[in-house]
Amino acid sequence: MSPPVELTGVGASEGIVVGPAHAHLEGEVEPERTRIPEGSFDEELARFRAAVEAVAGRLRKTGENLSGSLGEDEAAIFEVHAEMADDPELLEGVEGRLRGLESPESAVLAVGEEYARELAALEDEYLAARADDVRDVARQIAVELTGGGGTGLEILEALTVPSVILARNLAPSDTARIPKGMALGFVTAGGSRTSHVSIMARSMGIPAVVGVGDALEAVLDAESVALDGGEGRVVADPDPKTRAAFDLLRARGEEERAGLDEYRLVEARTRDGRRIEVAANLGSASGAEEALSWGAEGVGLFRTEFLFMEREELPTEEEQYEAYSAAARAFGTRPVILRTLDVGGDKSLPGVQQPREENPFLGWRGIRMSLDVPALFVPQLRAILRAAAHGNLKVMFPMVVDSGEFRAAKGMLEACREELEADGVPAGPVEVGVMIETPAAALGAAELAREAAFFSIGTNDLVQYTLAADRGNEKLRHLQGADHPAVLELIRMTCEAAGEAGIPVGVCGEAAGEPDMIPRLVALGVTELSMGPPSIPGAKKIVSGL
Ligand code: PEP
Ligand code: MG
Repeated sequence: MSPPVELTGVGASEGIVVGPAHAHLEGEVEPERTRIPEGSFDEELARFRAAVEAVAGRLRKTGENLSGSLGEDEAAIFEVHAEMADDPELLEGVEGRLRGLESPESAVLAVGEEYARELAALEDEYLAARADDVRDVARQIAVELTGGGGTGLEILEALTVPSVILARNLAPSDTARIPKGMALGFVTAGGSRTSHVSIMARSMGIPAVVGVGDALEAVLDAESVALDGGEGRVVADPDPKTRAAFDLLRARGEEERAGLDEYRLVEARTRDGRRIEVAANLGSASGAEEALSWGAEGVGLFRTEFLFMEREELPTEEEQYEAYSAAARAFGTRPVILRTLDVGGDKSLPGVQQPREENPFLGWRGIRMSLDVPALFVPQLRAILRAAAHGNLKVMFPMVVDSGEFRAAKGMLEACREELEADGVPAGPVEVGVMIETPAAALGAAELAREAAFFSIGTNDLVQYTLAADRGNEKLRHLQGADHPAVLELIRMTCEAAGEAGIPVGVCGEAAGEPDMIPRLVALGVTELSMGPPSIPGAKKIVSGL
């Protein structure tokens, strides 16, 4: 028997697991071939038809297989998707483009996108929400055409066996669709420690190895996988000896973690008496109790966009109010910093229309989008102000580059407060802070500090924008650390400005939970560290030893 295949990547979320593998091949498809040679129309049309048949057939079969475990309504979704795949209009659109010598894989993505946009623009909420389904189906056909078909095209929502998910890339909206308890771990070809898949994994407390690169292709048909999320090691179809070795490592890891338990409830203080608050990064109120049990002294970053990713449509003001109030109540007098929607970059929200952008991370993201779309921003601000009556809520804005943007956002918040007061709706006080995650904000920190109640440094983006290195690109690992001198200098400037203005300065990027970075951040003057909850006891231990 040949030895099991082993891959290495970035250890993105600690923990050891051995379990069934589930290959998830959805995600972006970038067809390598966009044109076809003259005279190949008939042949390419036949290929397209065969791909449609394969995808539609697979979708129907998945629906049938799952109708017992999922229920008729959910299984019927697969039938609807199959109908989208063999829709005559889709065929017609693709045929037209093939005549213009566009490749079928490129054509199906383009036609799918056109339909999706038409659907998204409709008044009818149900139909508008189908836009992503059309994109999904077009993507599946493109994958089939480019030879990737056959494995794992089932939608993650349909997972019924807890599994380790193998994927080229996982977007936050993909991970949000996985039913609770069904993801045992993640292995991705792309990504880094600060990609959102890693952040999600850490906050879900499940092991992840990212950035394994093209080597992933060799293990996509594995039946089981052993994974060490600390060391970045993956073994496909492990033999009994390997399984036993991983079991031993898991037992040791659990012992080590138990050794940190005494730090959970400690108030972290350096040996010379500087108090450093250690808080949690959360993406939902349901994680609050667990975060408190890890020893969170508050929430340093509540990613509000994560709350709504698993849904089909945008939340109403009322739903947001409920969610934010629940978080506020769970933490009582402890602060909970809500970050307003940070959509764009690699994060999409169903119900938010995002244009296709050449450079999404340099695009219409975060506060830029919120300021442009009051229909998105105002209900969120109103919900935050109303929820603030139930606890110690603070608010901060993402992706700010200067005090003009910050003032505009604060102005909208104040207008919302006046409106609520005029209507006699109770609202609570909120401190307003700013995320420092663009080099411009760090360079302008002295001015921003005069207007902000606090700073929170988002090192994930600050690193990518300072070093011009995509935070999710596995080839740029050497440019993804917050320990680069240029990044440290921007952090130092931010801390200095905060110190002079007498406002607190936290770090809520992944660097806040990294053992090597904690001493540096504390030395530079950071007053709060916010991280995935499982990292809290270890961080408190490190601070206590400084
Ligand atoms: C950051 O950029 O460091 C941050 C905390 O925000 P996000 O990771 O959600 O972009
Ligand atoms: Mg950010």
